[in-house]
Amino acid sequence: MKFLYKVILVLGILIALSCFVQFVVFNKFFIANTNSLLLSTNEKASENVSMQLVENFNKIQNFVKTVAANEEIRENQELLNKFNAIIPEVDVVTIFNSRGDILHISGNAHIPNVSNLAYRDYFQQAVHGKTYISNVFTSTSGVKVVVISVPIVKDGSIDGVVVGAVKLQGTYLASMFDNKKFGRNGYISILDSKGYVVYHPNKELIGKKSVTFDKLQGKSRSKIMKDYSGKEQFVGFSKVPNLNWYVLVITPTADIMTSRNIVVYETFLGSVVVGILIILLGIYTIKRYSKPLNNLIFSFNALKDGKYKKIEPHNYGEEFQEMVIVYNNTIERLKKEYNDLEEAADIDSLTGAYNRRAFNKFLSTLKQEMSNCGLGRVGALLLDIDNFKKLNDTSGHLAGDNVLKNLAEIMKSSAGDRSVFRFGGDEFAVVIRNISDERLLSIAEAIRLKCEETLNGCTVSIGAAKFPKDTYSIDKLIDFADKALYISKKSRNKVTIFVK
Ligand code: GH3
Ligand code: MG
Repeated sequence: MKFLYKVILVLGILIALSCFVQFVVFNKFFIANTNSLLLSTNEKASENVSMQLVENFNKIQNFVKTVAANEEIRENQELLNKFNAIIPEVDVVTIFNSRGDILHISGNAHIPNVSNLAYRDYFQQAVHGKTYISNVFTSTSGVKVVVISVPIVKDGSIDGVVVGAVKLQGTYLASMFDNKKFGRNGYISILDSKGYVVYHPNKELIGKKSVTFDKLQGKSRSKIMKDYSGKEQFVGFSKVPNLNWYVLVITPTADIMTSRNIVVYETFLGSVVVGILIILLGIYTIKRYSKPLNNLIFSFNALKDGKYKKIEPHNYGEEFQEMVIVYNNTIERLKKEYNDLEEAADIDSLTGAYNRRAFNKFLSTLKQEMSNCGLGRVGALLLDIDNFKKLNDTSGHLAGDNVLKNLAEIMKSSAGDRSVFRFGGDEFAVVIRNISDERLLSIAEAIRLKCEETLNGCTVSIGAAKFPKDTYSIDKLIDFADKALYISKKSRNKVTIFVK
């Protein structure tokens, strides 16, 4: 079984190794693939947002152009207010004359103290005939804005400038982008051409210089970068056409790492569970196989010690039932053959009576019983043929053999098959349990008489002794019977009962 346990151990190590390899390979491929996938996804998303931004700014630009082209709207404050209300993206519309003085402002906005803004870039660009979209700057009212400025052309010359302002910390961009999520925690950030933040979900950053702006240069439109707080992000970005702004779509790498960790831990846990199941299954299988095999070894050992032990077959699996049945049948057969041999070894081949070996065993059993639980009455007869040598000499050994056989039959029929033992030569013993003195004597007499009558002139001498009447020792019982036989031999054809 040690081998099987080693196999299970090796199997366990292999599973652990395969888990580790799986983990390393998975980790490597997962990270490489998800990185490139997310970077390209974010890049695509940033392009879409760029296009959306262009469309929105075109709409704003068209609106400002309409104001610039329509003198009635420009001149009529009420009309200007109403017209501005149509397009909520534009927070304030300001009409300048060609010198940079503010003529009208839409809504309830007051004309600021510094009413000449000719120095502003957007004014300068527009007054020179260009439609212009500014970068982020702080307006005279102190808020971060971008503006779209359009020249007013009258009779072929520039008569003023219309400026539409979009407040960056207002509701317009927030409504466009605040709810746009990329992944669980992904978001959009928009930078102007100098790297100042036009839009960011964290409103405090709007108008500030982006820390990532410098890294946006180069061919690649997606990179892993650190954000303001130093956390790594998947950043996909694109340049907004005409504006030269940047739209960034950002997903924290932690999002993906969390998913990766979940998958890794799930894989790891799964492998551990499978590993444990395999080991448990292995141990169960080994036990299932080792139990009957151990029992078989145990039974073979018992066999070695002369015990014919059967195995109970019902506890084992189907595959062992047959083995156990074959073993049990073999054991049964061996036991029978052993008993037959044992029996044969105890029998005297000439007379069929038990031999001296069986006699000694029987005496041992009696002694054992005596020491264990006490022994009932036992009667012993010792018998010897009279002048047997003479018979052999005169009638031959064959005739002598026949006499021996006949005598054994006489003894068996008088005392019972199991009570007759051939001591050797022409000497026999009869040992009978639970027998009265009278019965013992009558058996002895019956034997003697039958021999006298049927053994062609052969007679027998018999000595008898009784346990426990004469002695408490089995050895002495036989000895006393021998002594009694000795007395019978003096006259022959006689039964003598031992007397102390
Ligand atoms: P006793 O009356 O004093 O017993 O005289 P005995 O001639 O019987 O003398 P003893 O018992 O000493 O002799 C036994 C004889 O039994 C000796 C031997 O020739 C004979 N004998 C022993 N075994 C066998 C046997 O298997 N077959 C035959 N035919 N004779 C045997
Ligand atoms: Mg004799």
